[in-house]
Amino acid sequence: MAQGGACSWEDIFGQEVAVEHLRSMLRRGDVPHALLFTGPRGVGKFTTALVVAAALLCPTGEADGCPSCRKAAARVHPDLHIVEPEGMSIRVERIRELEGLLSRKAVEGRGRVVVVDEAQSMTAEAANAFLKTLEEPHPETYIILVSESRENLLPTVVSRCREVRFASIGTGELEEYLVNREGLAPGEARSLARRSGGIFGRAVLWARYPEAAAYWRKGVECAALMRRLTLREALAKVESCRRELHELRLEGGGESVEAYLSALDKKSAERLRKRREEEASRRDKRARRLAAHDFLDGMASFYRDIMLLILVGEEGGEVGDTLLLNPEWRKELAREARHLDARGVRGCLERLQEAGRALDANVDEELLFSHLVLELRSRC
Ligand SMILES: [Zn+2]
Repeated sequence: MAQGGACSWEDIFGQEVAVEHLRSMLRRGDVPHALLFTGPRGVGKFTTALVVAAALLCPTGEADGCPSCRKAAARVHPDLHIVEPEGMSIRVERIRELEGLLSRKAVEGRGRVVVVDEAQSMTAEAANAFLKTLEEPHPETYIILVSESRENLLPTVVSRCREVRFASIGTGELEEYLVNREGLAPGEARSLARRSGGIFGRAVLWARYPEAAAYWRKGVECAALMRRLTLREALAKVESCRRELHELRLEGGGESVEAYLSALDKKSAERLRKRREEEASRRDKRARRLAAHDFLDGMASFYRDIMLLILVGEEGGEVGDTLLLNPEWRKELAREARHLDARGVRGCLERLQEAGRALDANVDEELLFSHLVLELRSRC
C-alpha cells in the first residue's frame, strides 16, 4: 500500500488511539529510539510509520507537507531507510548494508529513521544482526518495526521496542469509509468490503485502482473453468496467469522525484538513484507475491460461494446475491454446486490455503501452480 506517497495524519483512518499516542510522543519530544507497530494486515501501520518518519525528519517537527516531508512520503529522503522483504524474507545482507549506512552521518542533519516493514520476515540470522543495531543504538536514529503481531518476532527484539497497537477496522466502518471517502455506491461498497476480506488497505486500493483487483478476478475465472477445461487447457490457463504475474511492475516515482534528484550534486544523486532502483526491484518482487496471493484468494472466493450454495441448498434455502462474493458468476456457481459435494469443495479450499502458505515459504511457483491444478481437479 501507500504507493501514492500519502503523508499526513489525515491519511490514516480508524486509528485514533495509536495516532494520538504517537502525536503526543512527538509533541513532547519523547519518541523512543525503537517503536514496534503491530496490528492486522492493511490497517495503515506502514503509512503511519512514514508519517512519523516525515515528522521526525521535518525541520518543524510536524508532518506538514514541506519539501522534506514530501521527500519522506516519496521515499527518497536520504535519511529515511526502508527495509522490506525481498521476495519472501529480509536477509542478513540487507541488515549489514543498513548498519553500513547508519555508521555514516545523517545527510540532512536532523537524525535518521529506519522503517522495517514485515519485520517478522527477517531470517533468524538477520534478526540476530538486527538485535545488535537495537542494542547499540546510533545517535539520533529512530527505528520503526512494522509487523502483524509481536509473537512472530524474537522476544529480545520486542523487549527493546515500545509497542504501538493498531486496531482492526470492522467491515461496517470499512463500508462507511468506501461510501464517504471513496465515493462508492453503498451496494458496491458492501461487495468490495467483503471481497477484500475486510482488509482495509486492499479495499481502498481496489476502490481507487480497479485494475489492481485483476489478479483476484483471474483467480475467480480460473476456478470457474477448472472442471470444464481439459487438464492440458487448465494447466495452460493457470500458467499464463502466473506468467502475467511475473510481468507485473510498479510505476516509478514520477516527475517530482526526478526533479529532486537532478537538483542534487552528481554523486549523491547517483547514490540515491541506485538505492531507489534497488528498492523498486524489491518492491516489484513483493508486489508479485501479493498478486499471487490475490489470485489464490480469488479462486478460494469462488469455492466459498459454491460451498454456501451447497450448504444452504441442502436445507432447501435460497442464497441471495448479497451473500455471494461473486454474484455475477451465479450461473456457473449453481452448475458447480449441483456437480460437487461439500467434502470435495472443502478439500479445494484447504488446498488453496496450503498453496498460500507454500507461496510464502519460497517454493517453486510454476511447480506449485501446476500441482494445485492437479489437486483441485482430483477433488472435483
Ligand atoms: Zn515538513
